[in-house]
Amino acid sequence: MADQSKRLETNIDGELFVDSTCVGCEVCVIDAPKFFKMTDPTFHLTTIEEGSVITITDEESKLLFGKAYVYYQPTSDIETNELRDTMLICPSDSIGENKTNAK
Ligand code: SF4
Repeated sequence: MADQSKRLETNIDGELFVDSTCVGCEVCVIDAPKFFKMTDPTFHLTTIEEGSVITITDEESKLLFGKAYVYYQPTSDIETNELRDTMLICPSDSIGENKTNAK
């Protein structure tokens, strides 16, 4: 079961989330592209190269690069049910729902 305490910062606010146990297989992105995307490491590297104040540690890098994240939250029961199927096929059980986090 996905762990809310390991929720990735890259997820947008809302009940659906990917946690840090994601192994980056991209299955959720292929199955439900409306809701999931993969992190783009070039964004972070470019930011660092430009001397931005945004820096990341090695540990943060391991947590963020090559993982999926939620960029669109379900807004109907139909969408929520579609996502339940996607949650079942995640090989690392990294996709979760937190009803208390819904907005
Ligand atoms: S299906 Fe699971 S392990 Fe694969 S990218 Fe999505 S969240 Fe990560």
